[in-house]
Amino acid sequence: MNILVINCGSSSLKYQLIDMSKNEVLVKGIVERIGIDGSQIKYEKTGAEKKVFSKTINNHKEALKEMLDLILDEQYGAIKSLKEIDAVGHRIVHGGEKFSGSVIIDDEVIKALNDSIDLAPLHNPPNIMGIMACRELMPDVPMVGVFDTAFHQTMPPEAFIYGIPYEFYEKYKIRRYGFHGTSHKYVTSRAAELLGKKVDDVNLITCHLGNGSSVTAVKKGKSIDTSMGFTPLEGLIMGTRCGSIDPSIVSYLMDKESLNISEVMNILNKKSGVLGLSGISSDFRDIEDAAANGNIRASIALKAFTYGVKKYIGSYYAVLGTVDAIVFTAGVGENSDIVREMILDGLETLGIILDKEANRAGKKEREISTRDSKTRVFVIPTNEELMIASETAALVSK
Ligand code: AMP
Repeated sequence: MNILVINCGSSSLKYQLIDMSKNEVLVKGIVERIGIDGSQIKYEKTGAEKKVFSKTINNHKEALKEMLDLILDEQYGAIKSLKEIDAVGHRIVHGGEKFSGSVIIDDEVIKALNDSIDLAPLHNPPNIMGIMACRELMPDVPMVGVFDTAFHQTMPPEAFIYGIPYEFYEKYKIRRYGFHGTSHKYVTSRAAELLGKKVDDVNLITCHLGNGSSVTAVKKGKSIDTSMGFTPLEGLIMGTRCGSIDPSIVSYLMDKESLNISEVMNILNKKSGVLGLSGISSDFRDIEDAAANGNIRASIALKAFTYGVKKYIGSYYAVLGTVDAIVFTAGVGENSDIVREMILDGLETLGIILDKEANRAGKKEREISTRDSKTRVFVIPTNEELMIASETAALVSK
């Protein structure tokens, strides 16, 4: 079974065609700068040279058409007919309270997605555009929506409710939703395999640390709390996002800097985090280099980030009682031994003992705790596309 995984952003369309019988990626790539000058299609067929094609691409439908033409191309393609695509899996950022799992996309689902645009005005509209484009160009191929929020719909009210008048939850559904759910779910199932346990039997703290970062408490295989909130702005200090701050800072900044609300929100989303703290970069490699070279602000940024993750681990320990494993994933979590060591330093009292050699050595999936560590620690590369493809295959096979 071949599954096409689509992830649409406002001006981009990421894609992967996966052969599920072999868990093998056939082609992958991204169409960038959709509707902007200088559009291009990056296309990589497994085993062949990576290609970049420049072309004017005005909208997501044109992007999808160009990508499908390449997949079917005699010279570059991987399949001969659209009939060889059995289903399309769409990454959808926000499913609100309505979607607690993946769904086959039909008219009703599209209506529900349109109704929930308010919750994710930046993310859901391009996701819907991708769905509509596939519908037009591949009307007979079943589609599945996989939501970033769905894994966290098992959170109990005490974890998802905010301390503001309850009527705002009732009227506007203002609550914690959590994001990166597909990634947290994927590493949860991999960690269960590594632990030799059933998913329903594992308690984990999963740390998705990338440009956007979130930590999740997983009890018996289900998310019971997570650091991101109503939007992905809450929680940890991130690449450019501020994470949790005192809400009063917003009005104070508006007043002091004569800014309007969208200017302040832009600062909190795009100019804060380790970029804003260091003044150097949102890329953790640059931050680590600068800190190692004595840059004080980069050092503060790195310490503030890792201190934040440490605090979440401590609080989720209290919530979970027993923790089988801590998992690190995503760009920073998978690649930065420095960040992992700073986070786990001092947590020996909780029974977490990092094997510093194993932490520094090697790459990819592995255990990095010592044999006598009560809680095991794993690095598990995330694979959201494979998770989306698996969920899609499971639903369309039913
Ligand atoms: P993601 O959002 O998961 O794609 O992760 C992107 C982040 O991973 C960027 O901030 C990168 O700087 C960071 N990253 C990638 N490789 C490394 C590395 N070797 N050390 C530290 N950070 C890294």
